[in-house]
Amino acid sequence: MLIRNGAVALPDTPAFVKLDIRVHNGVIAALGRDLPPDGEPEIDAEGLEVFPGAIDPHVHFFDPGFPDKEDFYHGSAAAASGGVTTVIDMPCTSDPQVINLDNLKHKRSIVERKAVVDFAFFGGVSSQVYADGFPDCMHELAAYVPAFKTYATSGSALFERLNHYQFSRVLEVAREVNRPILLHAEDAGFVLPAGEALRETGDSPRVFYETRPELAETLAVFAVSEIAETLQAPLHIVHIGSARAAEIVAGRTTTSGETCPQYLAFDLTDFERIGAPLKITPPVKQPDQKDQLWTRLAAGEIDFVASDHAPGSYKEKNTGSIWTDYAGIPGGPTLFPYLYSAGLRGGRLSLPRFLEATADAAARRYRLDDRKGRIQVGLDADLTLVDPNERYTVRGEDSFSRGKITPFEGMTLTGRVRTTLVRGTVVYRDGEIVAEPGAGRFLAPHNTGRS
Ligand SMILES: [Zn+2]
Repeated sequence: MLIRNGAVALPDTPAFVKLDIRVHNGVIAALGRDLPPDGEPEIDAEGLEVFPGAIDPHVHFFDPGFPDKEDFYHGSAAAASGGVTTVIDMPCTSDPQVINLDNLKHKRSIVERKAVVDFAFFGGVSSQVYADGFPDCMHELAAYVPAFKTYATSGSALFERLNHYQFSRVLEVAREVNRPILLHAEDAGFVLPAGEALRETGDSPRVFYETRPELAETLAVFAVSEIAETLQAPLHIVHIGSARAAEIVAGRTTTSGETCPQYLAFDLTDFERIGAPLKITPPVKQPDQKDQLWTRLAAGEIDFVASDHAPGSYKEKNTGSIWTDYAGIPGGPTLFPYLYSAGLRGGRLSLPRFLEATADAAARRYRLDDRKGRIQVGLDADLTLVDPNERYTVRGEDSFSRGKITPFEGMTLTGRVRTTLVRGTVVYRDGEIVAEPGAGRFLAPHNTGRS
């Protein structure tokens, strides 16, 4: 494959460079001007921008277990349509959960027949795992997973939170096996009593938010990152929505952080207007938080972005009460397009920082950077071709995801993903998935001591 005349986004380069890209055996074989034809198929990328395929390092595809909510085909197809070439799936929302090696192998055998983009799995440590299987499960999974997910407030009764002592033990093992702990950071000592006190006082997005405000996030980030700092153990805070939480992360030496488009695009006033389609945990925050998150993302103090893709069905999103409506949105297909439109084209992110935030920083944190994250000779030919001039309006109904209810409904974005290639194979082109289910491959983290 030869991709001709695109404006290519190279790492650490302030502007696009007009280049041809030669792909051989799925790997970038050469970069240069006017590369001689070799009889291979060509893509004319004149007028298009060529990016390293985006990495979505936080998705819930519910597979196996709950394929009516999402499955690996629909989830990965939606990702590909939005320029994502690698996803990392959470351990806690499939059945079985990825809490030991047998479960991981079982899950892999099912979803690798469905995926159209490359994928990795996070492992998980709940209080149930802590009571039965810890720390052996972390030792046996470490070669196969880039990190381990935990909660400070339980996401479900099937996967419960850790207390501070348990965090200290788990972080010690994380340091030993050299894999970060991922933290859903909302403080149970705030969220649970606030819910009990406020639930009867109203049924509105604002009251729901008041049970999980900025402070609930900040307290959890402070406490667990303090444990990690003391132990010099690797910690990563997922879906940061509060500026103060991001500031704490920036001051730590072993803690990294991610945010999501929903925290950059929306705030509590939007939640009051949109309601359940924007219900997520942690909820979106006060209007003054968004600009501060953008600033910290631009500075690299928030390391990268993720979608936290987690669709709820129409029924789950319309239970009649904000307290019981499903918390989660199908953000996968809008992750890269929103960051491109609002971040790069909106002037909030430089090109090098945009590339780090959408691909390279996650590749490094999760030890996929020997194959993924940059347009560079020798790395996988994961490429996203964008028409910078096309504008379009997001319609949930058009999504490849099973989840059609999105808070981005009706938002107009600048720049459209035209073609997505995974290891040199065209997976998505002009509105259609053209790869067969199973084209995506399982990824294990490298163990070279880098990152
Ligand atoms: Zn999540």
